[in-house]
Amino acid sequence: MTTVLGCIADDFTGATDLAGLLARSGVQVSLRIGVPDGPPDDTKPFEVIALKSRTAPVYEAVEDARAALRWLRDAGAARYFWKYCSTFDSTAEGNIGPVAEALMANLGAEQTIYCPAFPENGRSIFMGNLFVGRQLLAESPMKDHPLTPMRDSNLMRLLEPQVTRPVGLADRLTVARGAGALKAELDRLKADGVAHVVVDAVANDDLEIIAEACRDMVLMTGGSAVAMPLPGLYLADGTLAADAPKAEAPRLAPETIVLSGSCSAMTNKQVAAYLATGAQGYRLDPAELAEHGPQAALDWLAGQDLAAAPLVYATADPASVKAAQERLGRDRAGEIVEQALAACAVAARDRGARRFIVAGGETSGAVTKALGVARLDIGAEIAPGVPWTFCESGGHRIALTLKSGNFGAEGFFTDAQEKLGAA
Ligand code: ADP
Repeated sequence: MTTVLGCIADDFTGATDLAGLLARSGVQVSLRIGVPDGPPDDTKPFEVIALKSRTAPVYEAVEDARAALRWLRDAGAARYFWKYCSTFDSTAEGNIGPVAEALMANLGAEQTIYCPAFPENGRSIFMGNLFVGRQLLAESPMKDHPLTPMRDSNLMRLLEPQVTRPVGLADRLTVARGAGALKAELDRLKADGVAHVVVDAVANDDLEIIAEACRDMVLMTGGSAVAMPLPGLYLADGTLAADAPKAEAPRLAPETIVLSGSCSAMTNKQVAAYLATGAQGYRLDPAELAEHGPQAALDWLAGQDLAAAPLVYATADPASVKAAQERLGRDRAGEIVEQALAACAVAARDRGARRFIVAGGETSGAVTKALGVARLDIGAEIAPGVPWTFCESGGHRIALTLKSGNFGAEGFFTDAQEKLGAA
């Protein structure tokens, strides 16, 4: 089927988040991990390509985005969306601005918008300043991010050094006057040569107005939330046929494995809550893994009833993580744990597991790679930004959900199983 909207995301869990929000409308959404090698096949109305370019060198991020654009163009897309983090994670050089400008050049677009707002998750923009909850971005924990510390909250000032053409603002007062007023303001800015327009949004209603005003732009950029209204708008105006096939969940065997490599505060609570339900769990110890490898975990798994959805986890409190990192080095500790969880995923699949619940962004990358997954069809949402997905692994149809860091409620592992059970 011809692609209506081609999306490019700068990281994997961000791509899953966007795909999940687009799929809320019931339309078919496909997510590809990296730019596919071959020409477009079995394309869906909404295609999302997940890159790994958030902190890559600028030229590499630009080249990857251009390759994704070529593939999406071949898939028939006429409109595009460049998705980055709702906290505008970037450095003085990029990669948000340079990628947007390169895509604009290739598409012949004179103007695009920047709207990372995600009100449901507490990200809002007022007078061009980005807030995380009640705090300005530069006063939020993002100021200490290890890779992309955000030391300014003003999106125009953040964007200016990243692009070559003028930057402007369409503020909340304009957005509040509706899609017509916003469109007129964008046209006025365009006549003044403003190519990059930051758009304020503090609530979901604002996002509806922005999506309505910008739905025919050849390129929109933002967080996932501003794209959420697009499927409904395209269905309403016939861009997407009302009888386009809906996303469907395949029937799958009940065998399930839960794999947790995230050490976020919420994942720690989710693991504790799941064990408290009486679920069987095996705790991976990085030091033990470094010495003896994952065999003990694999042996434990071999004795488990997969229909009871056992859990293998490395999730630990900050002090234990610090101790493991001091002993093994941060990267080595992470790598050892990721590889052990990936090995458990493959072993579980070979023993009949068809449902996989995975916690952790990097962990998800390692598990999908080991399972040989290159493409995911998006299903029902379990928690905001975390959908079930369906894909092929080792010749089997499987369901996979990939949850990063703090996403999901405390009962996430049980919620996920119930959601799929009902599908
Ligand atoms: P999140 O989405 O919460 O950031 P990630 O999977 O992206 O989770 O990152 C967690 C990292 O921590 C992974 O590299 C994982 O292998 C590593 N890790 C998990 N458990 C431990 C542990 N007990 N000690 C040290 N590192 C760990």
